[in-house]
Amino acid sequence: MRNYFIAGNWKMHKTRAEAAELAQALVAQLKDGKHKYLVAPSFTALETVGKIVAGTNIMLGAQNMAAEEQGAHTGEVSVLQLKDLGVQAVILGHSERRHLYKEDDALINKKVRLALKHGLEVILCIGELLEEREAGKAEAVCETQTVKGLEGVTTEELKRVTIAYEPVWAIGTGKTATPEDADAIHAFVRKVIGKLYGEAAAQSICIQYGGSVKPENAAQLMAKPNIDGALVGGAALKAETFVPIAKFA
Ligand code: 13P
Repeated sequence: MRNYFIAGNWKMHKTRAEAAELAQALVAQLKDGKHKYLVAPSFTALETVGKIVAGTNIMLGAQNMAAEEQGAHTGEVSVLQLKDLGVQAVILGHSERRHLYKEDDALINKKVRLALKHGLEVILCIGELLEEREAGKAEAVCETQTVKGLEGVTTEELKRVTIAYEPVWAIGTGKTATPEDADAIHAFVRKVIGKLYGEAAAQSICIQYGGSVKPENAAQLMAKPNIDGALVGGAALKAETFVPIAKFA
């Protein structure tokens, strides 16, 4: 039986004071929550939020990480620096990193392996563009991103990996994939994991859906057999919308 995992990606929003206020509200309102939870604030608010969620049922996540352990990489943040702040998980391969900042599968894979080597959990994001979906390439894109993203990752390490399927056309657009369409891709990705790591790994890997998840659609999405959680953007910025998603059942 897989656990539901609901994560909030706060993207480039919130000052430390705003982040602290949201984190405090979530700690209070999710303390009896039944699922696995994570918040991913900006780097600048990690320390503040980390102190608030420490020892609670909410994990601290980062939104990105450098591909190198340390060195002359102006503007980058390393895995060691994240761990120093108490970060437990990192979102990698988000579509905004892939498309706005031109991160490719090889770079994302390097980050995935480095994060796992240092004991972090990883949320590996995959998902197709609208034109790829319209050209019938959604599965092929998701397969490539999954296979290349996980290259060199061992079966043991895979236990710390969550896949987030985020169709790019559904992110921040208000357009959600139908539960059926999302579930079909999730089932396909599970098959890809099965080919790479075997059936037990395919059945146990957590696959989140992301893209305009809201309180109104969370329960229908989560009811699908292959959808194990959500990676929430816009609706994660307020307790009033994130808490009902996090407590969908
Ligand atoms: P929205 O929920 O705002 O569509 O964003 C999804 C997302 O990109 C989460 O990582």
